[in-house]
Amino acid sequence: MHYFIKTYGCQMNVYDSEVLAGHLESMGYSPTDDEEKADILIINTCAVRQKAEEKVYSRLGRLVNLKEKKEGMMLVLWGCIAQQEGAARQIKERFPFVDLICGPQALGRFPELLQKATVSPSCVIDTDLTGERECLPVKRGDSFKAWVPISHGCNNYCTYCVVPYVRGPEKSRLPEHILEEVEELAREGYKEITLLGQNVNSFGKDLQIEYDFADLLRDVDRVKELQRVRFMTSHPRDFTEKIVRAVIDGEKVCEHFHLPLQSGSNRILKAMNRGYSREVYRELIKLIKKLSPGSAVTTDIIVGFPGESEADFMGTLEMVKEIRFDAAYNFVYSPRKGTAAAEMKGQVDKETKTERIILLNKIQNRISLEKNRELIGTKQEVLVEGRSKNNPDMYTGRTRTNKIVHFASPENMVGKMLTVGIVEAKPWTLTGKHN
Ligand code: SAH
Ligand code: SF4
Repeated sequence: MHYFIKTYGCQMNVYDSEVLAGHLESMGYSPTDDEEKADILIINTCAVRQKAEEKVYSRLGRLVNLKEKKEGMMLVLWGCIAQQEGAARQIKERFPFVDLICGPQALGRFPELLQKATVSPSCVIDTDLTGERECLPVKRGDSFKAWVPISHGCNNYCTYCVVPYVRGPEKSRLPEHILEEVEELAREGYKEITLLGQNVNSFGKDLQIEYDFADLLRDVDRVKELQRVRFMTSHPRDFTEKIVRAVIDGEKVCEHFHLPLQSGSNRILKAMNRGYSREVYRELIKLIKKLSPGSAVTTDIIVGFPGESEADFMGTLEMVKEIRFDAAYNFVYSPRKGTAAAEMKGQVDKETKTERIILLNKIQNRISLEKNRELIGTKQEVLVEGRSKNNPDMYTGRTRTNKIVHFASPENMVGKMLTVGIVEAKPWTLTGKHN
């Protein structure tokens, strides 16, 4: 019996798919790369932007044929789309061939739900927001790098964002559970771990203990055998000097800060409920650059938030030019049902949003290229992640600062930590030479 999982969205979804795979393997299923061979097909969905949702719906539309052809195949719609208000019922009506629809909190209940769906004549739905996520089986997607969630959910209610509604309130895992998991991974030979949370900087606040994210970073850094520690995502409002110091003192913690700015206009930041100003953000960057000059800073930006004027957008461009991010993930604002911003006046038209993102991407690409060119001639520590997708003779890895490096090698280098000399730069990638 085979399973196939298609994952959309963020790293937390990638991790959740690893848990679904863990459950299935302990039930005796094996993975397949061919969805036609699958006895269980899971679509793990993302609801953060309209585009991500549309991709899922068009895939579901295409799956009707396979479902008709393959009698007995179970089709599962998992994750954030299912958890949106009213969505599960609508999906059930529109795609009656789906067997099971579950929100992300049902992860611990998956085996029973699958059992129930197998015998049920109609689609089974579970969108209960409560659920236990500790001690679940995990089938890791890689053998040398692993995701480790440190908290689930989010309390921030940024006005554009659906995450708090679909993943529930923030719940930190106990530090001892996280450390046990990291120690176990290190013993199994994992070289790199990434601590995951919607806002890692507020870790521990809900636990009422004298232990915060910086303490966790220091403890994880002490785990023997481990070579690299990463973390995402940071929230500027909860980001502290103590965290920067834990990064620079840490031998394994990588010098990369992903710190979403979202907008460079104070008016828009307020309307987004982000809880910081551009001045505060600028000071954080100064602090990072002062204490850790070689570090990389990346960001997320939204253009076309309701009410964003030309002047507000110019404020964002100004910040981008001044801060000179190593990379930026820029998004066009997408109204999400149930969020405060979707109801706000002054929704920006599509053409303006498109013009703004094109300009922002152009400026950022130039900056990323200039920053990457500064690395030509340097030697970088690279953890090799796999073969390059476009060229099987090339390998792909990442620097400590999270930059992608392609290089050629006659030997299999996957999972190795190497020193690579940088010879060429593009906005999103570097090319290197290893000898
Ligand atoms: N918890 C993380 C990730 C949230 S989702 C964080 O706070 O950074 C990842 C990114 O998607 C966000 O940083 C934001 O830039 C973008 N995003 C979220 N909701 C969006 C929306 N409705 N429209 C466009 N972009 C959005
Ligand atoms: Fe969404 Fe804001 Fe929470 Fe990030 S911090 S998940 S953007 S509500």
